[in-house]
Amino acid sequence: MKTSSRTKRRGSEQVLEGLGVAPGVAIGPAHVREAGDLQVAEYLIPAGRVKEEKARLTAATAKAARQVGKLKAKALGIHGLAAEELGYLLEAHSQMLNSTRLVGGIERRIETDRRNAESAVMAEISAIAQEFEAMEDKYLSGRAEDVREVGHRILRCLTDVDYHGFGGLEKGSIVISEEISPADTALMDPREVSGFACVLGGAEGHTAIMARSLGLPAVVGVPGLLPTIRSGDQLIVDGSNGLVIVNPTAGRLAGYARRLKDMAREARSLTRLRNVPAKTRDGQRVVLQSNLELPRELEQASDTGAEGIGLLRTEFMYMNRSDLPGEEEQYEVLAKTVKAMQGRPVTVRTLDIGGEKLASSLGEHFGESANPALGLRAIRLSLKEPKLLRPQLAAMLRAGAHGPLRILLPMITTQGEVRAVRKELEKTARRLIRRGVTIADPLPPLGVMIEVPGAALAADSLAQTADFFAIGTNDLTMYTLAIDRGEEQVAHLFNPLHPAVLRLIQFTVEAALRARIPVSVCGEIAGDPRYTALLIGLGVRELSMTAKAIPRVKSRILSIDMHAAGRRAMMIMEQVDSGRIAALLDDFNETAS
Ligand code: PEP
Ligand code: MG
Repeated sequence: MKTSSRTKRRGSEQVLEGLGVAPGVAIGPAHVREAGDLQVAEYLIPAGRVKEEKARLTAATAKAARQVGKLKAKALGIHGLAAEELGYLLEAHSQMLNSTRLVGGIERRIETDRRNAESAVMAEISAIAQEFEAMEDKYLSGRAEDVREVGHRILRCLTDVDYHGFGGLEKGSIVISEEISPADTALMDPREVSGFACVLGGAEGHTAIMARSLGLPAVVGVPGLLPTIRSGDQLIVDGSNGLVIVNPTAGRLAGYARRLKDMAREARSLTRLRNVPAKTRDGQRVVLQSNLELPRELEQASDTGAEGIGLLRTEFMYMNRSDLPGEEEQYEVLAKTVKAMQGRPVTVRTLDIGGEKLASSLGEHFGESANPALGLRAIRLSLKEPKLLRPQLAAMLRAGAHGPLRILLPMITTQGEVRAVRKELEKTARRLIRRGVTIADPLPPLGVMIEVPGAALAADSLAQTADFFAIGTNDLTMYTLAIDRGEEQVAHLFNPLHPAVLRLIQFTVEAALRARIPVSVCGEIAGDPRYTALLIGLGVRELSMTAKAIPRVKSRILSIDMHAAGRRAMMIMEQVDSGRIAALLDDFNETAS
């Protein structure tokens, strides 16, 4: 971690508060990504990339047209002159987006000038706008503005994703932005970027999860961030306490430097637990596995002694690209993971895209949903689009030939969904065998995420068709309490200790135990030592978390008496107030172990 030599403003220290979502401290120069900054890169492309660029353009114009269609539908709900005016305007935009003149013109610039899609859009839009501006008729010349607006919309859809990552920043920079998406975070290399802070976002959103797994200190939901900070300002991001300190004083810097040293010492001392089995004081064994958000965490999973991968989120394979990963590519990633785990199980989840987790390559499969968290996401999308599900299942079956692999299905709500996937899995297996391909034998166990309240309440029914359960407490809390996990305005209400959430966890665990199928918890609470005693007390014996959290959770398990934890959990389950529940849990954590 390095401090900036480029600090431009030597103004007085300012402390901004937000939600600390990934612990740790980053000290470095600010790199501000301007709001509204489209980061349009213009470059020439080789002949071989023309098709790909045109496909990106098609996806972007289709998305832009869908957005305008939605706006048109919304405009119908308003009345008066403004509505009429808006209706005409949107109709004009929609016609432009569907016009062969505009799209054809952009395509020609990609084909003949070999420009990338963004640059072709800019050139074509500017040419058409100039034609309009040259017209004598005031009304028509004014249409140039509309043309630019449409072009801007297409560019926004094209640059949904920062394909160029965060390379080229001063080493150790801290990224400051209005919003940082999970796909943006996936592009941050912790050797280059030392942390980030943004105005929007909640603690359990995927941006936050990704930051924790990369070990990047992060603070989200910081109002006043953009007006206060300029690129080059020296910053401290305190992800443990939710603080962003601009132009810190020398005293403050020295204090944080000491904290960094203490944290490094603690991390070193925890590495000694790597080969110690996770057992409670009274001998109850607990299996600790790692979640895998990005392949680069694999090494960390081994270093921290993970006993397997409890949740491999496959979304990273779909991010920051404009095409879909094929069977072969997915097989290679999965086979590498299975081999690296050397006989320890790898639980691979089918695509969980939708809601806040949008990958640009899937643009064409999404209608713009007014309520994406309840829309066509996760297993619903996979079952609707065999071209998404089949290559995934085939890759999993093939990778399962190299070691134990389990298949996990996200957002399940009914037995029918599990049966449909099982049928597809068997069909895919038969097809591969016919082709002479080696696959897992027997077929991998098929498990379900319990992350929708309806699934938890029907856990006994789902246990009849599922081979195992993984409780996703992030979504389970979100859907139970109707709190968007990625929304900073309601982040303070997101509470896994709400009695409703705990009852659903308890119900699920009991259903799994009765059906004698394995059950794990893989939501973020699994990696927070505060919750460990409660989960063990409720009968959970498998926890899966970001690899970095394993040593601290293991250390907590070593200090717990399982019977005492069970008694405290029962006492907690009798409570109706989440404040009282939190107090009983914190008291147990402080005193009874
Ligand atoms: C969860 O919802 O708790 C979970 C583990 O899945 P994800 O965070 O990927 O939605
Ligand atoms: Mg989930």
